[in-house]
Amino acid sequence: MSRSTQVVVTWPHYPLHAGTPGSLLVDAGVQVMLAPKTGLRTPEEVVAIMAGAHAAIVSTDPFPASTLAALPELRVLARVGVGTDSIDLAAATDHGVLVTVTPDANHLVVADHTLALILSLVRRLPEHDASVRAGGWDRAGALTPRDLRSLTVGLLGFGRIGQAVAQRLLPFGPRLIASDPLGVPADAAVTGVDFDTLVAASDVLSVHVPLTDQTRGLIDAAAMERMPRGAILVCTSRGGVVDELALAAALASGHLAGAGIDVFQVEPPAGSPLLGLPGVILTPHVGGLSDGSIEDMTGQATRSVLAVLAGEMPASAVNPQAAAGWLDRPVSP
Ligand code: NAD
Repeated sequence: MSRSTQVVVTWPHYPLHAGTPGSLLVDAGVQVMLAPKTGLRTPEEVVAIMAGAHAAIVSTDPFPASTLAALPELRVLARVGVGTDSIDLAAATDHGVLVTVTPDANHLVVADHTLALILSLVRRLPEHDASVRAGGWDRAGALTPRDLRSLTVGLLGFGRIGQAVAQRLLPFGPRLIASDPLGVPADAAVTGVDFDTLVAASDVLSVHVPLTDQTRGLIDAAAMERMPRGAILVCTSRGGVVDELALAAALASGHLAGAGIDVFQVEPPAGSPLLGLPGVILTPHVGGLSDGSIEDMTGQATRSVLAVLAGEMPASAVNPQAAAGWLDRPVSP
């Protein structure tokens, strides 16, 4: 590979020194440009950053059809993570851009994060923390913690993360139900139900579906209204599945008692009404992050890019047909 091969990395804090995934790119002799995504980024900004790049290792940067059309050199987009909702996959395929993901690198960490949110909300930690800091000592009454053993936890989506959350919750003894079009294995300690039953029966509803045309806005005002009074909503999958304005209204009215949100419709969620509400835990899309998972994900993404630049198909390509016709040809002139 030559210095004229350009790889842009938007994943923040991507290291290039010896022993790190980035050093593999340096050793391969390609030109690496770091453009860390730390907040909102427009499709036009992405075009400017990616101009001339043959490969990119990306965070949640937006790649609509117009952006992909404006990047004719681009051959591979290696997404650090598994969500591809920020990329127009059909347009990527049309423009011959291979998209890869990093499966099995962070689902257990997301499940850990989800469990932390559920336990914190059931035990009412945000309200107790705020109360003690304000000089209070409210040990019972309205802020009495709840008992996970007596609650029903519903999982919307029973894929890798949904199943890992169920495994973690089992020792705490709640009733577990889940809804997934692919079904719930009969031997699981989790009962499969339809969406309406899930929403109506969940004292804690935890969202683990990808953001698609079918799931966008799925947890809207009507769905929240059907949840039991005092229920808790947790979402660590994607902003956009939950209607944030409706959630803020349901919390403000007292219909929902709490929420744990790691992912937002707009990230960061400046101006969101959720920011000012008590009984809510907000985290900055860190559900899938840990020191180990970051190393795994950036390592996988880097190896995918190197494989493509060397004319090989990476196992984690989600649209392998995009490379038909060019994979065996060298990238650099
Ligand atoms: P997965 O593909 O293993 O599981 C997703 C499940 O959702 C599948 O079983 C699918 O059948 C189901 N599903 C799809 N549409 C549904 C619907 N309408 N109703 C019910 N179920 C439906 O994916 P995963 O690894 O479990 O990840 C789930 C999502 O979590 C990802 O798509 C990603 O957006 C998100 N995620 C977030 C973070 C984070 O940092 N917060 C990290 C990793 C993944």
